[in-house]
Amino acid sequence: MITTRALSKRYGAIAAVRSVDLDVREGDRYGLLGPNGSGKTTLVRMLLGLVYATSGEIEVMGRRMPRHAREVLPQVGALIEEPAAYPHLSARANLALFDAAGPRRSAGRRGRSRRIDDALEQVGLAGVGRRPVKTYSLGMRQRLGLAAALIRRPRLLILDEPGNGLDPRGIRDLRELIIGLNSSGVTVFLSSHLLGEVEQLCTTVGVLDAGRLVLQDELAALRAPTGQILLDTPDADQVCAMLNGQVEQRDGQRLLIRHADPAGLNARLVGAGLRVHAIGPHRRTLEEVVLAVTGTGSDHIGGRS
Ligand code: ATP
Repeated sequence: MITTRALSKRYGAIAAVRSVDLDVREGDRYGLLGPNGSGKTTLVRMLLGLVYATSGEIEVMGRRMPRHAREVLPQVGALIEEPAAYPHLSARANLALFDAAGPRRSAGRRGRSRRIDDALEQVGLAGVGRRPVKTYSLGMRQRLGLAAALIRRPRLLILDEPGNGLDPRGIRDLRELIIGLNSSGVTVFLSSHLLGEVEQLCTTVGVLDAGRLVLQDELAALRAPTGQILLDTPDADQVCAMLNGQVEQRDGQRLLIRHADPAGLNARLVGAGLRVHAIGPHRRTLEEVVLAVTGTGSDHIGGRS
């Protein structure tokens, strides 16, 4: 759905995006993570033809960008930073203007009105769609921006920090909305500086660090078992003595053990009369994965096969 090759952007002396090879596939919920200033917004803007690349190539839905922007953009829903809206007009009126600026639809006025109703409903603004936007909170404006992204019923959604300004309930609604759209066939590419948000929402993760894509892989692969076992036992001393050399870390009663078979180890410990409170394969959190590849000067690791 989106591929870039050696995509780079310089602002004078600043290398904002450096030789990025992005690979977003149909059906993905792709989360682009990175701290402030790592180049997320610049990258997203380049995908949409809002910022010109210094070098490199971009394809969105199989077409070169920005050359084919007129063909591609009507099929893309986008939310970039704070969404623009006419403050004195209602959400409905703003959406109608936005829709009218899009490609012509055969469904006419009633079809348009239904699309607006659907979009407002999807983002939870159905009850307040007639109020002027100047009375909206930041979170409500963000929802309106999402409604504008949805109104053309896009195949691809590109969202820059969509959780900005939303309260916990808004974030949960957004998550459900994105998962629902994705399961009906919409590919989603979003940027975020919130690791937890991406971990809960996305199937594929990319990590930008000072403009470089230092990691790109499926979440399930990143969080695959490490070949170690996490054991919680009040008999930690005895276990350490018994498994001499296999215990790699100890934190009170929690042990990290080099061993591939939790069931086998459990049977052995219980057979020896030792108590097991919890046992299972060890997986790294996304935070641990990201910390391992950022800020260390390391180059590209992993990759989608
Ligand atoms: P944030 O999470 O804070 O929005 P970001 O990851 O989206 O950050 P960008 O906004 O893409 O990062 O910025 C990347 C780098 O490019 C930063 O060093 C920023 O100062 C610089 N930059 C971005 N836009 C411009 C511009 N128009 N002119 C000069 N420098 C810019």
